[in-house]
Amino acid sequence: TKEDVEFPPSMNPDEIDEVLFTKEMIASRVRELGAEISESYRGDDVGGGGLRLPLVVICTLKGAAAFFADLVRSLSCDSQWEFMAFSSYGGGTTSTGAVQTVLDLRVDIAGRDVLVVEDILDTGHTLRYMINMLQARGPKSVRTAVLLHKAERTVAELGLTPEFVGFVIPNEFVVGYGLDYDQKYRSLPWIGVLAPWVYGDADSKIKYSACGGRGKA
Ligand code: 5GP
Ligand code: MG
Ligand code: MG
Repeated sequence: TKEDVEFPPSMNPDEIDEVLFTKEMIASRVRELGAEISESYRGDDVGGGGLRLPLVVICTLKGAAAFFADLVRSLSCDSQWEFMAFSSYGGGTTSTGAVQTVLDLRVDIAGRDVLVVEDILDTGHTLRYMINMLQARGPKSVRTAVLLHKAERTVAELGLTPEFVGFVIPNEFVVGYGLDYDQKYRSLPWIGVLAPWVYGDADSKIKYSACGGRGKA
């Protein structure tokens, strides 16, 4: 609940309707995922040919950065860090089907074991696009770790079944632990449901200030 977390002075607690996961809950789930993922590759000849190349772990910018940083450090194997970024047309709080690559890999993943790290699986359009793109490059394997899954929103026809899921959440717009609204709220160490008035009608938009002040405009 909201009593279990700290709000930065720049924020009005009314901006959050409900806290879903405290930083302790996140840390403990990420540790579990790290163990699960490590176990799933145990004994694998990661990289193939006995070369024991590190697992290629791909962080999707920007939202997955916090999850990625914690997750790679909870793996019992070494990892090669790579970054990609995608955008889907249309701002606001929901994505459309039209995904674009904003930042591509600069390494060859042919024959490599690849773990995709995503902040949230919503409709699934972003992840479907990304995985298709990676599969076309001939990796040895591609597995996916998503911190949050809005299961009731995911388009079944996309055939996405992430191997590792942190938490299944209801269809609400969440922020914190890397997740933003309009580039804000990413640095909150916990995850909460953004109050609809924050992204609703323009008259009630919050006045944002960097490190002081607060409140509704
Ligand atoms: P999808 O393509 O699966 O519909 O959307 C995936 C992307 O939309 C996520 O990677 C994330 O950037 C954004 N997104 C979807 N739901 C949420 C949410 O509840 N909060 C935030 N901050 N971003 C979301
Ligand atoms: Mg994302
Ligand atoms: Mg975003």
